Amino acid sequence: MGQESTHIPAQEKYTLREQGMSAVSQSSALFGIVCAQGAQLRKHIDATLGSGNLREAVRLPPGEDLFEWLAVNTVDFFNQVNLLFGTLTEFCTPENCPTMSAGPKYEYRWADGVQIKKPLEVSAPKYVEYLMDWIEGQLDDESIFPQKLGAPFPLNFRDVVRTIFKRLFRVYAHIYHSHFQKIVSLKEEAHLNTCFKHFILFTHEFSLIDKKELAPLQELIESIFVPY
Ligand SMILES: [Zn+2]
Repeated sequence: MGQESTHIPAQEKYTLREQGMSAVSQSSALFGIVCAQGAQLRKHIDATLGSGNLREAVRLPPGEDLFEWLAVNTVDFFNQVNLLFGTLTEFCTPENCPTMSAGPKYEYRWADGVQIKKPLEVSAPKYVEYLMDWIEGQLDDESIFPQKLGAPFPLNFRDVVRTIFKRLFRVYAHIYHSHFQKIVSLKEEAHLNTCFKHFILFTHEFSLIDKKELAPLQELIESIFVPY
């Protein structure tokens, strides 16, 4: 088998703030953007998700601002991954998962390019902690994710969002490759699949993740697009 390792900075830290899985849209309550427009967009997301039409749910609603739409969804997807991974914290331990792998061919090392420049080989839970902390830092930074209505987004906003999605994908890749049986035994399989499908349809709609990054779950992703 080939070797491919991708070095990236990321992180995550979080405790499970909510037990159990429920509607995909439920995560939106966890990390609030206090912005009327954001709230309205979120209502739109909830309504379209409620209808079960994921392909429709990812589309930019007519007349809405693209960056605002990306921002609201970025928060939602972050919360979803947070919840999903949170259900695995007792299983995804440094002992069980000494490296952040996605199957035998892919291993990720952490660097954020700022505080950690040389990629670190860390356990999967440590990697996810770094990753989620890093994302939370981006979401909390008002110069990147403005919370005031009408405040401008930075010129590089799309690049930041792409990096966030690329990193969130790695958590899915690790969950599917290392913890899928546990997910099945927890009866979270359907929820995981729905979250992932929504995530992939969204990133596809706005070209947020390069194809080569998706390789660890390529077959699964192809199955999502078959019905198209
Ligand atoms: Zn793990």
